[in-house]
This record gives sequence, structure tokens and C-alpha cells, in this order.
Amino acid sequence: MARIRLKLPAATDPIMLNAQLPPEHEIERPVLEVHQWCKNGDHPEDDTQEVCTPGGDTFLSEGKVVRYYRDPDVAGKSLCPKCNVKMHDHGWIDASEGGHIVCPGDWILKGVKGFFPFIDDQIIRVFYEFVEEEEHAPCAGS
Ligand SMILES: [Zn+2]
Repeated sequence: MARIRLKLPAATDPIMLNAQLPPEHEIERPVLEVHQWCKNGDHPEDDTQEVCTPGGDTFLSEGKVVRYYRDPDVAGKSLCPKCNVKMHDHGWIDASEGGHIVCPGDWILKGVKGFFPFIDDQIIRVFYEFVEEEEHAPCAGS
């Protein structure tokens, strides 16, 4: 788990940077809880279980928040145009209309009533500052 909040406008906007506004102009910046998703089972609310096959192998059941990305029209070995990682290593978040592909490295905001918005890793680093960092190994392929 990590905590983020929007950077001050001064941190990203060159005009605001030069204006040097006094502190009372600080906008309200709520602290948000986020989790970086790299692979199935990464989200704390995924509730994955170890499943044993009759052959003695084990695998992790599908996450409840970030599901497997599987599309019969998209080859699993094809590469994602956004992150260049193979599509079978991607996740899927259900939404009221359809759903969203989650790239390894994307950040999932803490759910509000079963809604799990997510943020691209590059966007989060441009617009948000980390109040508290998450400690885990970097995502493979990123
Ligand atoms: Zn991707």
C-alpha cells in the first residue's frame, strides 16, 4: 500500500512555479490509498487462494478486484501497444459498462463501493507525490 496526493500546482505548472504563491493558496489535497498491480493476486482485496491441481501443481486463483485479462479476439502473446508487455500478463477491472485493461505497474485506487479506478504509472509520478511509498519488487518488464 502507498499513499499519494496531488502535487501542488507549483510543482508541475511553470507559471505557478514563478508566481510563488503564499501557503494559503494551497489547494486541498486529500491523501489517497493506492496499490501497484504487477500480477494476479497483487491487490489486497483480490482474495486469491492457492489451488492444487490433481497433478500436484499449485496456482493462484483469479483475483476478485483485478481479474485475468482474457479476450478471445486478442492473442495472449501479442504485446500491449501501451506498455509492450504480453497481453496475458495484464489484468482486467470490471466497470459498470464493460471494463478496463490494467497494465502491469498501474496503480489501483482504494475501492469506493466496489469501484476501483486505476492510474497509469507515468501519470501518477507526474501529478502525484508519494506521502508513503509502497515497498515491493519492481514489476517484471517495467
Ligand atoms: Zn499494457
